[in-house]
Amino acid sequence: MHIPFSLPVIDADVIHEVNDCLTNTGWLTTGPKVRQLEEEFKKLTGVEAALCVNSWTSGAMLMLRWFDIGPGDEVIIPAYTYSATALCAMNIGAIPVMVDVKDDFNIDVEKIRAAITPRTKAIMPVDIGGYPCDYDEIMALVNEPSVRAMFQPATDRQKVLGRPLVLVDAAHSIGATYKGRPAGTLADVSIFSLHSVKNVTTGEGGCICLSLPHPFDNKAEYQFLKAFALNGQNKSAFEKNQAGGWRYDIIAQGLKVNMPDICAAIGLAQIRKYASELLPERKRIFEQYNAAFSKHDWAILPPYRNAIKESCGHLYLLRIAGVDEEQRDEIIRLISETGVGVNVHYIPMAMLTLFKEKGYRISDYPNTYKLYANEISLPIYNGLTEDKVAYVIDAVVGSYEAVGCFPIAIGIGG
Ligand SMILES: *Cc1c(COP(=O)(O)O)cnc(C)c1O
Repeated sequence: MHIPFSLPVIDADVIHEVNDCLTNTGWLTTGPKVRQLEEEFKKLTGVEAALCVNSWTSGAMLMLRWFDIGPGDEVIIPAYTYSATALCAMNIGAIPVMVDVKDDFNIDVEKIRAAITPRTKAIMPVDIGGYPCDYDEIMALVNEPSVRAMFQPATDRQKVLGRPLVLVDAAHSIGATYKGRPAGTLADVSIFSLHSVKNVTTGEGGCICLSLPHPFDNKAEYQFLKAFALNGQNKSAFEKNQAGGWRYDIIAQGLKVNMPDICAAIGLAQIRKYASELLPERKRIFEQYNAAFSKHDWAILPPYRNAIKESCGHLYLLRIAGVDEEQRDEIIRLISETGVGVNVHYIPMAMLTLFKEKGYRISDYPNTYKLYANEISLPIYNGLTEDKVAYVIDAVVGSYEAVGCFPIAIGIGG
């Protein structure tokens, strides 16, 4: 049996919606489908304003620029994440300051505290696998008088906020909740990724959810950002196409990162049934894995839900107690031989060439290394049937047993 690691939802509803875009609206770039998709994100999360862009990465660059972050400024990020979390800051000249994570894969709030300097302009927590970070603690930290006093605002927006911006890398967390509140609303700004491997996809894309505190006006900021994401042009091609709409202005030095309608159509069909169908199916898969692996004392289950948090099950981050990197790689090799696609989330940035060259050292992030060294991500996506999940479970158990790491598996793990 061949079970790929990830597959997007391309069903009759998606095809219908894309067909509608091509044959009825005839509109390819940003237009009615994008605005409908934004409305769906507002409905799903309850935010006042949601702006769709062409990727998470470009959306993050846009929002860091919106907050006037640039050369010399520091952005605190977890050491355990996909590289885009760092690159969005580096590509506007800012410095990503990496801090270690806790055993739930998410950023350690005490490590954030220790990393804050007068140059800190933003903090980017990442909801790894769709499991929310400690938002009450993070928001309390940035609002502490000593943190506010250290903040050195250089522009009007920075003066109004008066503290570092909390910009959530919510690439994984569409549909996750924290104290019953949906991801997208848990900090100042949250950005979902709509890349092809994510829970909801537009092929490539992202959605910026605004939850800025008073006195910011989220709807007014949305109007500005719509232009800011379109070269600073205050009218989209769609608006210019309306009768008499030819005249426009360039109101700011923006980026060109708007989402095309043809892409929005794909995500629109998915998000309409996300809460009712797609997310529950994902959770069923997650729970089938949990039920099977909880019977094995070598399996460390990924964080899923507790009294305040509930994951949206973007990734199934299985860890194998007691194995080292080499044994983990061998288990992966054996799993792959059964036709099952697995992955590792993530190779820590500090182990990748670019970041090593910039002086980041994995030895500074021991917990990140510990999580990475024995982690294997299993397939989890809509359409993965109960039989296929059972096949994956057998492949993992069989491969673990074949590698024969029993002697060290118990006691040293964790
Ligand atoms: C996918 C991903 C991104 C980047 O998303 P794009 O839409 O591809 O730019 C950023 N952060 C994390 C944690 C991701 O998994």
